[in-house]
Amino acid sequence: MMKRHLKLLALLLALCLNSPAQQLTAPRPTNVANATGANAQASARDERIARAAEALRTQLVAQRRDFHMHPELSNREERTARVVAERLKSLGFDEVRTNVARHGVVAVLKGGKPGAVVAVRADMDALPIQETNDVPYKSQTPGVKHACGHDVHTTVGLGVAEVLSRMRSEISGTVKFIFQPAEEGPPAGEEGGAPLMIKEGALENPRPQAIFGLHTEPNVQAGQIGYHSGAAMASSDTFSIVVRGKGAHGAQPQLGVDAVVVASECVLALQHIRSRRIDPLEPLVITVGTIQGGTRFNVIANEVRLTGTMRTHNDKVRERAIELMRETLMHVTAAYGATFELNMEGSNPVTYNEPSLVEETLPTIRRVVGAENALVLKPFMPAEDFSYFQKIVPGFYFFLGVGNRARGINAGWHTPEFDVDEESLVVGVKVMSNVLLDYLDRQAAKR
Ligand SMILES: [Zn+2]
Ligand SMILES: [Zn+2]
Repeated sequence: MMKRHLKLLALLLALCLNSPAQQLTAPRPTNVANATGANAQASARDERIARAAEALRTQLVAQRRDFHMHPELSNREERTARVVAERLKSLGFDEVRTNVARHGVVAVLKGGKPGAVVAVRADMDALPIQETNDVPYKSQTPGVKHACGHDVHTTVGLGVAEVLSRMRSEISGTVKFIFQPAEEGPPAGEEGGAPLMIKEGALENPRPQAIFGLHTEPNVQAGQIGYHSGAAMASSDTFSIVVRGKGAHGAQPQLGVDAVVVASECVLALQHIRSRRIDPLEPLVITVGTIQGGTRFNVIANEVRLTGTMRTHNDKVRERAIELMRETLMHVTAAYGATFELNMEGSNPVTYNEPSLVEETLPTIRRVVGAENALVLKPFMPAEDFSYFQKIVPGFYFFLGVGNRARGINAGWHTPEFDVDEESLVVGVKVMSNVLLDYLDRQAAKR
């Protein structure tokens, strides 16, 4: 008995010590089958989808491992896109468009009954990170790894494609599949990702009435789904700053304008925008990530270059923060006789989950994973280019739990140790298949 109490105490402690996201969550289910199977109200269709997804388990794991072993960087997803397109063609899709935004694939599956159009998006690119996990499916490409779980997204997308392609006759409307390259951002000088997909017509012919997507979340356990309503992920703006001074001998600073000193003041002053000039209740991050300047220890630097990122959850805060950055840089540099250049380069809007779409989708998610496994998460500061699609059509982007505390699978996104509990693949296929079909059913009922 005592032992059991101690165990319980240790479990509670472990829960409390975990990440903030988890503090909000219910305890994880002991196994995924419990989480997904035990709903008395599940309809016959739910059960068929569940069975179809379960039957794909081995194939899904093999497919995810194949993608994981052959990761490709943003705008270089040639092999991944080929695998995706071939699979969709073999499933008898009505249309499979390739080379959209370089390696994107846009495919259309028409149902047997008339109805609306719904889209699902999966991103395909990997990151320039060296894999350190010693696993049988270790990345075969040195220095490149699926460290954000896009291998899972692509695999789940193909799984959903397979399940739905076998149920065509009962689909009320059309499902559009968008396999997107370069979510992590195209290489310098290249266009890519969601904005380019949209530019090249991914949301046209036919235009979906809503779009859904999912992202892995290692802080949520496999078998669970996390979500936010409204602003869910931050906007992100990349900026670069050049501070220009005047070179001089390192021992005669009065003859020059020291760009290193001025840039240092700028870095600190920018932090005061967050702490002193924006409402403390509004999320805002201004990070200067790089600082480069100077040529020699005894020379006053004439130029320093800074780059960084700015994140918020509110467009007004975003605009105000950019104004304040400019104002701050102008006055700090002027105080020392230096000048500056500020360039805002590339941004992602706020990932905004349309509250009414979230509300109407939640019953489906709860039915598939169990109400106790659909978790409200705190909004995140990382950004996501799914937000571009949501600017055009209402969208819901939710989180697929891929963590497994017992097996030590909890490394964060973009780390060399990132991994997933592959149980999540079947869960993702079940949830997304149901979400899409239920959406189309609701639209058909309104007609
Ligand atoms: Zn990422
Ligand atoms: Zn990602």
